[in-house]
Amino acid sequence: MESAEIARRFLRFFEERGHTVVPSASLIAEDPTLLLVPAGMVPFKPYFLGQRTPPYKRAASVQKCVRTPDIDEVGKTTRHATFFQMLGNFSFGDYFKDDAIPFAWELLTRSEADGGFGFPEDRLWVTVYHDDDEAAELWNKKVGVPAERIQRRGMADNFWSMGVPGPCGPCTEIYYDRGPEYGREGGPIADENRYLEVWNNVFMQFERGAGGGKEDFPILGDLPAKSVDTGMGLERMAAILQGVDNIYEIDTTYKILDRAAELTKTRYGRDERADISLRVVADHVRTGTMLVADGVLPGNEGRGYVLRRILRRSIRNLRLLGSGEERYMHELTAVAVDVMGELYPELKADAPQIHGVIDAEEASFLGTLRTGTAIFDAAVEETKRKSATVLSGDQAFQLHDTYGFPIDLTLEMASEQGLKVDEEGFRRLMKEQRDRAKADAAAKKTGNADISVFGQILEKAGKVEFLGYDQVSAESE
Ligand code: ATP
Ligand code: MG
Ligand code: MG
Ligand code: MG
Repeated sequence: MESAEIARRFLRFFEERGHTVVPSASLIAEDPTLLLVPAGMVPFKPYFLGQRTPPYKRAASVQKCVRTPDIDEVGKTTRHATFFQMLGNFSFGDYFKDDAIPFAWELLTRSEADGGFGFPEDRLWVTVYHDDDEAAELWNKKVGVPAERIQRRGMADNFWSMGVPGPCGPCTEIYYDRGPEYGREGGPIADENRYLEVWNNVFMQFERGAGGGKEDFPILGDLPAKSVDTGMGLERMAAILQGVDNIYEIDTTYKILDRAAELTKTRYGRDERADISLRVVADHVRTGTMLVADGVLPGNEGRGYVLRRILRRSIRNLRLLGSGEERYMHELTAVAVDVMGELYPELKADAPQIHGVIDAEEASFLGTLRTGTAIFDAAVEETKRKSATVLSGDQAFQLHDTYGFPIDLTLEMASEQGLKVDEEGFRRLMKEQRDRAKADAAAKKTGNADISVFGQILEKAGKVEFLGYDQVSAESE
């Protein structure tokens, strides 16, 4: 089943059950506490909080999402993308657990011929929040899931919040058992690779405050009404329904991966390192395309930095695959526009702008790599001449600070030369630089009579790497 069909089916199912289909909001969150939209509920947050009256009691959407905290998982796990689409049904003070749970079950298990996804019942496992007897009862008695396939989990896993102040509540998650070739038995508690989480149903009930981690944030009180927020991962559903191993091999993403393999003359499935690079390229090109389409431009802060990091990681992985000085982003972006165009027709019209932005970033990063590589080579030579085996923290810092070399690039290139890097020294210098910037910013806040200092702050701040982007994002459980 194609990705676009999965989206259509989901929306049709909920439309038939009284939900208003709402188009995806932009990835650029209107919510000032977020940089990018990490979950389908974000555009509806004011409705849950009772700050705005929803024009409908029930809604369904396919929301574009970006989750930067998952970036290091990309290509290594089978299930984490930086851009993905969340299919969701929502109730704003209308139905609660006793309808949400049977809805989810019905859609997943109803036959394909009948408009469902046709999952065999005995492949499905569910988790509930540890004290949510009501949800456990509904799964067991109303829906008929055997007790041994209902697992209970604590705050970190089964109590959902955005990671920032807002609505929150206990959740119940649905997992698909991919079989023993994917890992240990024993349900999602035992192995989240074998048991693939496909759908989270959140019972929005409370409002959380700021601070605290996943498990210890303050609860400010009850929401004005009990509501439902669900999120089903379109790419994970596609992986199951298309019978592929991971979300990078589904209809849309695989075409980008395949083209990257072709351009770099690499064979997918031969070498794990190259495979990871191909998956990263495919994922990141797709994400970069969607971000630029929503108006994000590469930069050194905030969203711009997220985009820059994603594009640079794609380019670097292409080089690891042997692209050398070749510029392949244009071709890969064209494939991304093409495959994503079915669900987002506006991409086709935006293609020239998307290409322009991504090509410019590629040219500039390749320039960075070119000058930086000369400096890097000199540092390697000097290290080897001294019969040392470690590149100094100073050298790594200079490469980062002056030539924009990400540390992981320095690490990788050093390892290709049989060298290590004094990472601790590098991190110490980074921290010193950050502390200086913080002190400058504090001086600015308390008001400094000597205004010439502002120029210096700006100059320094421009160089400081933005670090806040993955602290401000949806908490994942
Ligand atoms: P995981 O535990 O696998 O990281 P999660 O619990 O963080 O997932 P939720 O916050 O519950 O995910 O999001 C709802 C749904 O969105 C998930 O059930 C999954 O299908 C999908 N999803 C979440 N993160 C990703 C991702 N990085 N890539 C693709 N799909 C995702
Ligand atoms: Mg997660
Ligand atoms: Mg999870
Ligand atoms: Mg979850």
